[in-house]
Amino acid sequence: CGIVGYIGPKSVVPLIVEGLRRLEYRGYDSAGIAVAGNPADPTHLDVRRAPGKLSNLEAVLRDRPLEGTYGIGHTRWATHGRPTEENAHPHRDGSGTLVVVHNGIVENYLALKQQLIARGHHFLSETDTEIIAHLIEDELNQAAGKHQGSPVAANESEAIVSTAADSLPLEEAVRRAVKRLTGAFAIGVLSAHEPNKLVAARSGPPAVIGIGDGEYFVASDVPGILHHTRDIVFLHDGDCAILTPQGARFTDFEGNELSRPPQRITWDP
Ligand code: GLU
Repeated sequence: CGIVGYIGPKSVVPLIVEGLRRLEYRGYDSAGIAVAGNPADPTHLDVRRAPGKLSNLEAVLRDRPLEGTYGIGHTRWATHGRPTEENAHPHRDGSGTLVVVHNGIVENYLALKQQLIARGHHFLSETDTEIIAHLIEDELNQAAGKHQGSPVAANESEAIVSTAADSLPLEEAVRRAVKRLTGAFAIGVLSAHEPNKLVAARSGPPAVIGIGDGEYFVASDVPGILHHTRDIVFLHDGDCAILTPQGARFTDFEGNELSRPPQRITWDP
């Protein structure tokens, strides 16, 4: 029930964990984080998750630290599937190189899951959220003329190389995927194949974008990022945000550019 994402020059893991802590009042039963953009291995993306308190995730991160330049974190309030590590966000696509965090409920997830299974997708969790990662992957595959689990994709390293050649920008795949959802969502998405980009979309649960100096944030609520920037864009329903180290862009789900000037927040949480 909390999302915090960051792209910029700072150390991403402590920043996201601190942001999630400031959103603790929203309640949660498990937590997780995905980080990408390790300079030593730019196409690598890693996930750490833990059931229970945020301190459990911090313990996992102490044992198995993460390095990177952008990432997203989540605290979960389970609606579909028990509060286990497997069901904790972020959820990955089939290739393991794209992740999604989600607040809300996908009402039509069972029908979508069955469609995706029939198209060769395999699922690792009981959540409605995992189908969003696979739907985005499905859009990328369709655009690239690929099929899930086809002989080409059976070899993992080949699959990753061929995904890298996808022509569809991540934000367009996200927009096409969310148009297939009914229900409520605020999501954050990143892909190791499109370095230095965070995509967010909103329809229902709140989501805000923080505009910093060469750094950008996404969060489910202002207190998660207010200690870093007071310039905040409140996403409208039907907005998609595309964050890179160069700036923040906003579109509707059709891809039309939107003007979303930040508001200066003068109050303190
Ligand atoms: N429906 C999703 C789940 O059960 C998201 C819940 C949330 O908003 O944290 O994992």
